[in-house]
Amino acid sequence: MLAALRPSACPGLVRVVAARDGGLCRIRLAGGVLHAAQARALADAALAHASGVLELTNRANMQIRGVRAGEEAALSAALIGAGLGPAGVDATSAIERACAADELRNVMLSPLAGLDPAACDTTTLAAALIDMMQREARFAALSPKFALLIDGGERMAMREHPHDIWLAAQRHGATLRFAAGLAGCPTEAPIGVLAADDVCGSIRALLHAFLDLAGADITRMRGVLVAHGLEALLHRAQQHGKFSLMRDDAALRTWRRDASDADLRLGAHALHADGSGYVGAQPALGRLDAATLHALAALAEAAGDATLRITPWQSLLLPNVAARAMPAVLEHLRVLGLIGTRAAPLARLIACTGSTGCAKSRADTKADAQRLAALLPADAEAHLSGCERSCAAAHRAPFTLLAQAPEHYDLYRRDDAAPGFGQLVAPNLTIEAAAQAIARRPRSTPDV
Ligand code: SF4
Repeated sequence: MLAALRPSACPGLVRVVAARDGGLCRIRLAGGVLHAAQARALADAALAHASGVLELTNRANMQIRGVRAGEEAALSAALIGAGLGPAGVDATSAIERACAADELRNVMLSPLAGLDPAACDTTTLAAALIDMMQREARFAALSPKFALLIDGGERMAMREHPHDIWLAAQRHGATLRFAAGLAGCPTEAPIGVLAADDVCGSIRALLHAFLDLAGADITRMRGVLVAHGLEALLHRAQQHGKFSLMRDDAALRTWRRDASDADLRLGAHALHADGSGYVGAQPALGRLDAATLHALAALAEAAGDATLRITPWQSLLLPNVAARAMPAVLEHLRVLGLIGTRAAPLARLIACTGSTGCAKSRADTKADAQRLAALLPADAEAHLSGCERSCAAAHRAPFTLLAQAPEHYDLYRRDDAAPGFGQLVAPNLTIEAAAQAIARRPRSTPDV
């Protein structure tokens, strides 16, 4: 049945992709929200059809590892039955339609979308954009990696993660508008401004223009900009209905959106005057087992609003926790093995799947990250990547260890003037030598 799908290496709900440790199934979550009942269904499905290992991704999604051969369809059906599929898709839907609808759900929001009273609630706009894309058959041709970001101005958001299209809310007198950018992120310069009511129509026109120019070979916005230029893209968008981008607005000249403090993902934080808010923690290196996910679902029901929110830092939040309940929730998370403070070295390390699960990996990055945790200097942050694809981090970490061979890594230090991971500090280091080199180096710009 899966052979009917267009080829892609990008896993999804119905596109279970082969990996070294079995099939890999990715579950896209709207705004990173996972209801307690869905979390239980996810945990049960991971045990019934896979290894029971679950991962939090850097796009605030979840994935199930080790799907057993022959059980892919049953897993997808179980997840769709739990309400984890795209809107309008059920177990009887054609697989191509389910797959296309699933792959058009790449709209990333802040983990605090709709929760932060000081920010614009972007959840309705995100749902409208996804609905618009899923209704138009042509948009099924977009790459499964083509992604949008909507920033509501929340106090915590991954704003340095590049997206094909990004939107960032700004108040303009009594009205709401969105700065818009392409192939980048809201910490960079926008190309124009959209009135809130014009966003869906204008993004629709832009997507048509992208597909007109992309041809068969280009899958991402950056490719179209390089091949054809911004003006050609915008000119083409004008030919696809109402395209209302304001390009000479005064707000563009003073645009500034800083990256948020990533440490806000951890610990207890008030959002309201009564002290209620959210509690955040992260599983070591983004991995959970099914029993822990069950326990988190129960905790969210007992102390929060019966939801979990996955963050792009491979961590999670329990929203709507009363101030008096926060200390007990933090302790409960600690007992479950989650990390609630940046002081813990594993809060400052990320690692891709590594050689136990990925044939491309030149090292067991997860195991090496555990070793590095024991040696990591205070405050240092590092990313271990098994190859150049950098699956665990879409942003640049202060230090990156790029595997060259088992237990050996090139060490890079973030440097905005250098491409890729940054400046090469030293090649082919053991974990011990890398830890020593990190300790000797001045930190790059703070990782926010
Ligand atoms: S970064 Fe490379 S080695 Fe690591 S999971 Fe991705 S493809 Fe595999």
